[in-house]
Amino acid sequence: MTVEAHKETLGFQAEVKQLLDLMIHSLYSNKEIFLRELISNASDAVDKLRFEALSDSALYEDDTDLKIRVTFDKEARTITISDNGIGMSRQEVVDNIGTIAKSGTREFFQALTGDQRKDANLIGQFGVGFYSAFIVADKVTLLTRRAGLGPEHGVLWESNGQGEYTLENVAKPTRGTDVILHLREGEDDLLNGWTLRGIIRKYSDHITLPILMKVEEEGKDEWETVNRASALWTRSKNEITDEEYNEFYKHVAHDFTEPLGRIHARMEGKYEYTLLLYIPSRAPFDLWNRDSRHGVKLYVRRVFIMDDAEQLLPPYLRFVRGVIDSSDLPLNVSREILQHNKVIESIKSGAVKKILGLLENMAESEPEKYATFWKEFGRVIKEGVAEDNNNRETIASLLRFSSTHNDSDKQEISLDDYISRMKEGQDKIYYIIAETFSAAQHSPLLEIFRKKGIEVLLLSDVVDNWLVSHLNDYKGKQLQSVARGEVDLSKLEDEAEKEEHEKAAGEAKELVERIKQSLGDKVKEVRVTSRLTTSPACLVADEHDLDASFKRLLKAAGQAVPNDKPILEVNPQHAILERLREEKDENRFADWTSILFDQAVLSDGGQLDDPVNFVNRLNHLLVELSAKGNA
Ligand code: ADP
Ligand code: MG
Repeated sequence: MTVEAHKETLGFQAEVKQLLDLMIHSLYSNKEIFLRELISNASDAVDKLRFEALSDSALYEDDTDLKIRVTFDKEARTITISDNGIGMSRQEVVDNIGTIAKSGTREFFQALTGDQRKDANLIGQFGVGFYSAFIVADKVTLLTRRAGLGPEHGVLWESNGQGEYTLENVAKPTRGTDVILHLREGEDDLLNGWTLRGIIRKYSDHITLPILMKVEEEGKDEWETVNRASALWTRSKNEITDEEYNEFYKHVAHDFTEPLGRIHARMEGKYEYTLLLYIPSRAPFDLWNRDSRHGVKLYVRRVFIMDDAEQLLPPYLRFVRGVIDSSDLPLNVSREILQHNKVIESIKSGAVKKILGLLENMAESEPEKYATFWKEFGRVIKEGVAEDNNNRETIASLLRFSSTHNDSDKQEISLDDYISRMKEGQDKIYYIIAETFSAAQHSPLLEIFRKKGIEVLLLSDVVDNWLVSHLNDYKGKQLQSVARGEVDLSKLEDEAEKEEHEKAAGEAKELVERIKQSLGDKVKEVRVTSRLTTSPACLVADEHDLDASFKRLLKAAGQAVPNDKPILEVNPQHAILERLREEKDENRFADWTSILFDQAVLSDGGQLDDPVNFVNRLNHLLVELSAKGNA
């Protein structure tokens, strides 16, 4: 066999170098995690082999004894982690080890603060991974060969973590990967079987694959299994410690931080399956990528089948991590089979119920934890209202909002809280939706509600538009935008108020008609408001039209938007309107009404069609007023 070395030196992506520096400095106090990361990768590599071998058993090359080996060499001062998993081709080494292919890389680097403690947290959230080897090693050699390629297709990768790496073709008879760490000065305490065994048991006990080390006895050439190598989820709950659960989480989730909650349940019924699912404590950087990986792993009778089986959970629960082990699926399932599969459907609906149940409990008994959850994942959960009809009411009960009750941008109010505070005679849940929290909070549309002490939910997330278009009611109470239709608060009005309102409308009839004439086809209708107490005018949408903010959103997304006109509501008690009623000069009347309309557009968060015209008219009136004042 001849191997053309084809040696080349390549530069790391600029980010890799930055990441390495950061990692070595901020994670040193926790340096032993390098072993967990490398064992985790070895275990993933074996999982990948199993999965690919489902459709091509030749990949096993007659070696089905899958395992991980950890060895050390005191003289050479090296530690080696070997696996007989899938291995990598030369190109895969470049792609997987030389670059950070993770989505969200840019966001990650933007989030860095230069403060070591905070950055150490971020790095955990981003995933430490392979590069953690450089915490303890000043040179790392990786020798690998992809399963299925011949022994002449080995690849040798080497780097001192200083910005460059070399790549060379070599012979490698066995498939899989060896990672050889050349320890830094002063790391000799790691060259010790007892220490290494301790680290493996502490962090990698849950790895289902045997992790082998040499028996340290004179004259013996034997291997022994260091970890328990049994599937954690098959053990009974009361035997498993929190630490074990958490280490397992870190492995499946590729996360460095502790999870926020977990469910471990054996489900028995029509189908049997075991769930071990976790809620992370922080959103990954690629949460918004609806097909981000590292979700739930599927096992069949303790045999790993596939990573990130997206059929197992709906997209709005894509942040959940863990494993599902089914007793009823065939071992040779493929992604295609999983689609529209009865067993999967049943598992999915059981898992969703469990997760929602966990969240309900958390919301009920650990509100602070739930607040963290909501801050990280609330926006994803909102998608569920549209996505998951069967569980809509439960999902709706998990939602948290800002409202005029707490008047802060903290989203801490549930629909049940809202309902418990509804006024006598109030039959709707009122909300306002705007582009920003402060636009919602300060909207003139809230004036009457504030005056009457009726709570209004303040919505300002982009997804809220979809949320309310799918959530028409909750526990029999209709959700009503305060920016749409006539606000019918008549049930809450006393007789005197009703009379006053009718009287005002009657008196303003002529004025309203004149304004409508003046604005022409800019508006669908002009009418006397029952919403405003201190502002002169506002815009609202007709009962069945879309809110203006939603229309702007659709427009920005390049979608067709219905061209329905807004309704202008005026407050005849306001000084400007009183002044207008007296205005005889038609030109000046037109200036005033036009300004009134444009102001209403602005306070609704909209943009003026002709801003210069607005400014000119306004200046014109200001000059007139100041001339009068001086006279
Ligand atoms: P992650 O495990 O989160 O993907 P890592 O930095 O740990 O990130 O690893 C980067 C990639 O390198 C892995 O996704 C995998 O493709 C590849 N890799 C690392 N170690 C091995 C290994 N022992 N065998 C095969 N591929 C590996
Ligand atoms: Mg990894």
